Amino acid sequence: MRDWLNFDKKLWFELHDEHCDGKHYILGNPHTFTGRIFAYCPQKDAFFNISLEEIKEMPTETEYWIKGFISGNEPSRPVDEEGKPLAPPSQDYIHWEESVELFHKTGYWYPGERHCEICGVKLLNSWTEFDCENCLDKN
Ligand SMILES: [Zn+2]
Ligand SMILES: [Zn+2]
Repeated sequence: MRDWLNFDKKLWFELHDEHCDGKHYILGNPHTFTGRIFAYCPQKDAFFNISLEEIKEMPTETEYWIKGFISGNEPSRPVDEEGKPLAPPSQDYIHWEESVELFHKTGYWYPGERHCEICGVKLLNSWTEFDCENCLDKN
């Protein structure tokens, strides 16, 4: 068994308001969804998973741990029917590239295809809302 509670005290972070106050700690990779981080809450003595976007505050050590983690978790480039990597101007390639760029900000990755619930535009895999950027602005 891995000794999860023997974690690095430098890798702390604080969460947004809906969670409890105080420091939480990065433990590693939960191997659930791309970009998810396995963490520990000493206040509640609980293990949980988070994405970068849920973090409110963190030291430089944590920031760089996450930067490396997200780079390593970037989903592979899409391929064509013969397994050859796609390139521009393929729409699938461009969609993937934009999704990867946003992935570095949200740390979230939805593996399937989703569309905006209002206008139907295809959403980036790393987009965390149900509506696209344009429709969100109008609400
Ligand atoms: Zn907590
Ligand atoms: Zn929309």
